[in-house]
Order: sequence, then structure tokens, then C-alpha cells
Amino acid sequence: MVNRSETSDTRIVYGFFCSWWGGIEEAGQHHSKTSNLPGCPVCGNGLMQVDDAKTWWDGVDEKEKTIPGYKDFISWLKGKCYYGADGAGFRAALAVYNAKPGRKQVVV
Ligand SMILES: [Zn+2]
Repeated sequence: MVNRSETSDTRIVYGFFCSWWGGIEEAGQHHSKTSNLPGCPVCGNGLMQVDDAKTWWDGVDEKEKTIPGYKDFISWLKGKCYYGADGAGFRAALAVYNAKPGRKQVVV
């Protein structure tokens, strides 16, 4: 694994079938093992991408305007894989996040 500062590849990648997200340097191998495609380092499923952290956080900030607490939730979610198609993984992660006593509830 390379450090983010040692690469010009600034992509932020996130799960297509799971909730995982992180820098491209944190990605693992796609579970198919038939290509060099990156995958979630936990479940191996495919990843989507944005060009850089600014693009990622700009999108998160936009969501925060209508979903209070969304940015804190996404910050917490980094590196966590909750698997599930059609947003099920994301919803499972949100349920775990919201289940912590005293935490401000995030309603998506
Ligand atoms: Zn995953």
C-alpha cells in the first residue's frame, strides 16, 4: 500500500454493493481476481469513484444541507463495509450508526 501523499492518484472510491469508501490506495482487489480492477478491501465487490477528496466532500456537504448529521455519518462510515444491494448496505450502516445511544439521528 502506498501513502496518499506518494501518489498522484487522488481518487476516492466507494462500494457499488457495499458501504465501504476510502482513497484508491486503500482499495483491495476485485473478488473476480481475473483483472486488476480495484475492489472493496473487505468484501471484494466493485467500486465507483470520484476524482478527488474535494469532489467527494463537496457532494457530502451538499447532502448535509438537507440531511443534518450526514457529514458526521459519512466520516464515521469510512473504511466500513456493510454489504447489500440496492442501498441495503448503506441502510444497514446507517442503522448501526443511529443505534449508538446519544448520537444525533441521521434520517436519509
Ligand atoms: Zn465491501
